[in-house]
Amino acid sequence: MKISETQVLIIGGGPAGISCAIWLKKLGVDCVLLEASAQLGGLQTRSPYENLWIPGVQGKTGQQVAASLADHAAAVGVDVRLKCPVISVDGRQVTTAMSVFTAPYLVIATGSQPRTGGFTASDRIIIGPGVGMEALEVKGKRVAIFGGGDNAFDQARFARDRGAKVTIFSRNMPRAQTLLQALIPEVGVVVGDYAADQNAMTVNGEPFDAFGIMFGFEAMAPTGLTLELDNGYVRVDRFGETSLPGVYACGEATDYWHPCVTTSAAHGIQVAKQISIKLQSYSSKSVN
Ligand SMILES: Cc1cc2nc3c(=O)[nH]c(=O)nc-3n(C[C@H](O)[C@H](O)[C@H](O)COP(=O)(O)OP(=O)(O)OC[C@H]3O[C@@H](n4cnc5c(N)ncnc54)[C@H](O)[C@@H]3O)c2cc1C
Repeated sequence: MKISETQVLIIGGGPAGISCAIWLKKLGVDCVLLEASAQLGGLQTRSPYENLWIPGVQGKTGQQVAASLADHAAAVGVDVRLKCPVISVDGRQVTTAMSVFTAPYLVIATGSQPRTGGFTASDRIIIGPGVGMEALEVKGKRVAIFGGGDNAFDQARFARDRGAKVTIFSRNMPRAQTLLQALIPEVGVVVGDYAADQNAMTVNGEPFDAFGIMFGFEAMAPTGLTLELDNGYVRVDRFGETSLPGVYACGEATDYWHPCVTTSAAHGIQVAKQISIKLQSYSSKSVN
């Protein structure tokens, strides 16, 4: 298989990876962006909801934000490889199903995925918020939402608005913003241990038509990298460098505070800037 070389390989085309790539390109650094799925935008591609949280950007859904990030990458000429899941990383050699790449700098921007909590996704069991939940036909149906965070309460409200009879099951006292909890005063919240049977579709013996699993997210990282983690997230220093020199990480794959589109993008930009500084100081040393 042919080995392609570049200065920076970015793994993951969500807001963090795209922003990193756009800035590298603008800073004159060669990079290739590898994305597993058929489109750029990461978790934003799952969101049909208006994104009200990006300063200066109004009136766009998450999916439109994803499309506009992809357009920006195309406009500045980022080399994007879609449907290119990274299977393994060995040193600086990165293997996808179709090709092998090498680069002195790697950026892990693989984001996070909804936790399954042992449930298996099906047409009645939806893991995580967004398009899957919205595709459920819930009018007049009984829907159990598992979890006690913002997503659980948001998704319970959206299902209720579409006519579902919703119950939230949370093992601990819900930690969702009180604002979100207050929006659905009539939705039952069962706090404490419960027995959910995903084959029988029952919770504590009560039948439900659909389950929404809202157990938060967990970081994804390609296999082959032995990176130090914090709580399952890639540990980075303030420049975004991981425990492996030359391997950077940004966005939701990392332990940075606090994950959203704007902070993920900002993190990607910081990493891009840092790598460009490193490359510049390396080339000025080699000239002198
Ligand atoms: C339903 C929903 C609504 C949301 N609404 C908002 C909102 O209104 N405002 C807001 O600010 N944030 C919102 N968020 C959160 C926001 O989308 C995330 O914080 C942001 O997308 C994180 O960006 P990221 O680039 O770090 O990771 P991700 O978006 O997770 O992107 C990671 C990318 O890496 C790719 N990838 C993973 N593994 C590999 C691999 N091995 N090889 C190649 N590619 C790989 C994935 O396919 C993905 O495209 C929402 C999230 C969801 C799910």
